[in-house]
Amino acid sequence: MPNIDWDKLRFEYSTTRSNIRFKFQDGKWDSGTLTSDFNVSLHIASSCLHYGQECFEGLKATMSKDGKVRIFRPEQNARRMASTSNYLLGPELPEELFVDACLRVAKDNIDYVPPYGTGGALYIRPLLIGTSPRVGISPSDAYEFIVMAMPVGPYYKEGIHPVDALVMDKFDRAAPNGTGNIKVGGNYAAGLMPAKYAKDRGYPINLFLDSESHKFIDEFGTSNFIGITQDDTYITPKSPSILPSITNDSLMQIAKDAGMKTERRKIPIEELAELKEVGACGTAVVITPISNIAYRDEVFSYGDTCGPVLRSLYDTLTGIQFGELEDKHNWLLEVK
Ligand SMILES: *Cc1c(COP(=O)(O)O)cnc(C)c1O
Repeated sequence: MPNIDWDKLRFEYSTTRSNIRFKFQDGKWDSGTLTSDFNVSLHIASSCLHYGQECFEGLKATMSKDGKVRIFRPEQNARRMASTSNYLLGPELPEELFVDACLRVAKDNIDYVPPYGTGGALYIRPLLIGTSPRVGISPSDAYEFIVMAMPVGPYYKEGIHPVDALVMDKFDRAAPNGTGNIKVGGNYAAGLMPAKYAKDRGYPINLFLDSESHKFIDEFGTSNFIGITQDDTYITPKSPSILPSITNDSLMQIAKDAGMKTERRKIPIEELAELKEVGACGTAVVITPISNIAYRDEVFSYGDTCGPVLRSLYDTLTGIQFGELEDKHNWLLEVK
């Protein structure tokens, strides 16, 4: 048994027993190997290093009340990574291979899954990199698909508590027909500077507008935007440059199940003044409620505690993940 103080866990990297690696060569994938080596040996001219031919995913396995460990919607992450790889002219990544990799790494590290009741999870991080040497710009022939996993605590240690966001007027996250809708590391490298700009001004997170007109809401730096209107409609932006969040999709389904109206549509920046609750959503945090959004010299406020609608959506999603509520949509896949 690893010696872990579960209550001290944060959302941070830690080493576990193993990771799993698959190599793509001569047009096919191998059958994957678990290893306790946490380094990769790469050619110095690898396409991932020079031209950013790489992408990643993030998902969670949680221990339920019954002691069983289950992964949340891995087939959705598989499909998203396959579509990202496709855009990067990477290899085809079969859904079965992706899901099998997650199951194998979770099983081999099962004693690193935080026990039921701690609020923690095993965070699973798949990574796909182009490994052929390239100096001229062209896609790699060889690739490595790596899945690592590590125990993480709840993202916000003091429980779900609201933060302030700054609207980015000087920076854009992704071009309108660029790579905003795929999960490539380059989007994150490009987001470091705007995030620092916001943090330096006292805002833990930043909110991007559509790059073309700066009139509509796109998404937060690393999470999707959710708004709750005065009549309790769940709204989220429709834009070609947003990363399609699986958490957002799941919360929207939960809202529908609860009889709420849901809309995916363009959200003009002025509409921030009319919303009752605003949240940022993603796998790591599930939902971060937003208390204030600063835009030029205006501030839109949503209270200093999490609003009741977002709270209930949060409780339902985490309740399903921890096996306390019925998994109506078969979102959980057991690690056996
Ligand atoms: C990963 C990611 C999200 C959240 O997606 P989930 O599937 O919910 O984890 C949101 N926005 C961006 C930019 C992302 O990269």
